[in-house]
Amino acid sequence: MTLAVRAAAGGGVGELVAELSISAAWVVDPDSGREGPADLVVRDGILEALTWLEADDAGDVDGRGIVVAPGFVDLHAHFREPGNEDAETIASGSAAAAHGGFTTVCLMPNTTPALDEPGVLSRIQAAAGASGSPVRVLAYGAVSAGRAGEQLAALGELADAGVVGFSDDGSPVRSPSLLRSALAYAGALGLPVIDHAEDLALTEGAEAHDGLVATVLGLSGWPAAAEESAVARDLALLADVVPDVPGARLHLTHLSTAGSLDLVRRAKAAGLPVTCDVTPHHLALTDEWLAGARRWAWDAGEDPWREEAIVAAPYDPALRVNPPLRSAADAAACLEALLDGTADAVATDHAPHRLIDKQVEFGLAANGISGIETALGLLLEAVDAGHLPLARAIEALTAGPARVLGSRFGRPIGLVEGQPADLVVFDRSEAWTVEPDTLRSRGKNSALVGRELPGRVLLTVAGGRVAYQPD
Ligand SMILES: [Zn+2]
Repeated sequence: MTLAVRAAAGGGVGELVAELSISAAWVVDPDSGREGPADLVVRDGILEALTWLEADDAGDVDGRGIVVAPGFVDLHAHFREPGNEDAETIASGSAAAAHGGFTTVCLMPNTTPALDEPGVLSRIQAAAGASGSPVRVLAYGAVSAGRAGEQLAALGELADAGVVGFSDDGSPVRSPSLLRSALAYAGALGLPVIDHAEDLALTEGAEAHDGLVATVLGLSGWPAAAEESAVARDLALLADVVPDVPGARLHLTHLSTAGSLDLVRRAKAAGLPVTCDVTPHHLALTDEWLAGARRWAWDAGEDPWREEAIVAAPYDPALRVNPPLRSAADAAACLEALLDGTADAVATDHAPHRLIDKQVEFGLAANGISGIETALGLLLEAVDAGHLPLARAIEALTAGPARVLGSRFGRPIGLVEGQPADLVVFDRSEAWTVEPDTLRSRGKNSALVGRELPGRVLLTVAGGRVAYQPD
C-alpha cells in the first residue's frame, strides 16, 4: 500500500488536497455495502476515482492493515464554546475530532449561554470558520429556553438558522408535556428530538452504576431504572405524537443499559420512528474500572476483587460519566444492539473538562470523558477481539449517524466519485499511546491515558481539505 499526499500549500490543516493517491488499501464504504482492496485518487479536493481491485491485483491486502473509510460523523459532542473555553474551544475540538477521524460533528447546546436562539449558532459557526479546520461543525438547538425545561425554545427560528435537531442534553427534558410538544413541533419541522434519558428523581446524589462495585466502593447507586423509565416514557410520548405528526422523530443518545436497548428494539419492531446511539466507553468499559480493573468489557467477569483484575487505583475521577459505566452485561447489550441494528450509531459524547473540575473526589468530579480521539481505538479493540465486524464498526461511525441526521446531513453518504473527498486513513496494525500531549483536545480527562490503542490515524480529509496529518 502506498499513500502519497500533496496539499496545495505544503500540507497544513485547511489546505486543499491537490493530489492524493492511495493504492491497494482496504476500503470500507458502508453506504454502498462494499469492503475490499481498492485504489483511490483525489485531485483538487475531489474524489476522482475509487477503483475496487480484483483478487489478482490486490495481493495480500486485507482489513488488518491500512484502512480507508468515509470521514466519521459524531452525533454527540461538547466543544464548550461559548462559555467554557478553558475546557475546549471550537478550534481545539475540531483538531481533536480530525485526529479521531471525524469530519462532521454535531455539538450539543449546553454551552453558556445555551444554544437556544440563532445568535449563539452564528457565534459557533463564526468560530468554526475562524478555526481554519475543515471539520464540519453542526449543532443542535435547545429544546427549552435556557435549557431550563419550562418553555419551548424558538424551534422554528432555530430550524431556519440551520440546527440539525433539538436537545436539552446534559439534562433530560423533564416535563412530559414539554417533550410531547417538542416532538410535535420538531417533527413538523422535519427534525429529531435527541433526549438524554434520565429520571432525575432516581439519580439525585448518584455516583456509580447500582451494583457490586458501587456497594464495595461505598458509592451511591445509579439505578438502570433511571434510564429505562425515561426511555419508556419517551417512547410512549412518541407513540402518542406520531399519528398526528408522522414526521416526529426521537433519537435516544448514550443508551447504556440492556433494558433501555430492549425497549428501543421492541419500539423499532413496532414501527416507531426512534433511533439511538451508544458510546465507545459504554461498549468497552465497565463499572469495574472504578475499582481499578482495566479489562475490556468483553473480558470482564462478575467480581474484579475475586478475579484479581484490579491493577490501578480506585476512584479515578476520569471515569465519572453520565450515564455511568455499567455492568459487563450492559456493555455486552450495547455491543449486541450495535450488531443487530437496534443502535444506529456510535456517538462519542466527547465531554472535555478542565483538570480542576476532575481532580477532586470521585463523587464531586464533573461528569464526562474526553473521548472523540479514542473512539476508533476502542471500537477496534472490540473488532480485534472478534466481537464486532470492522465494516459494522465503520458503519456505526459513518452511514449510521448520517442516516439519523437525514436531509440535514446535506451531502452524499460515503465515498462518492465526483464529490469532495471526505475520508479517514488509519493503520489498524499500528498502535498509538494516549497521552496528554498526544490528545489534541484541551480535555485530558481520559482513563485511557498511558494506554496503547490500535488504529493510528494517518490522514483525515474533510470536504476536500486536510483536517489531520501526523506531525
Ligand atoms: Zn447526555
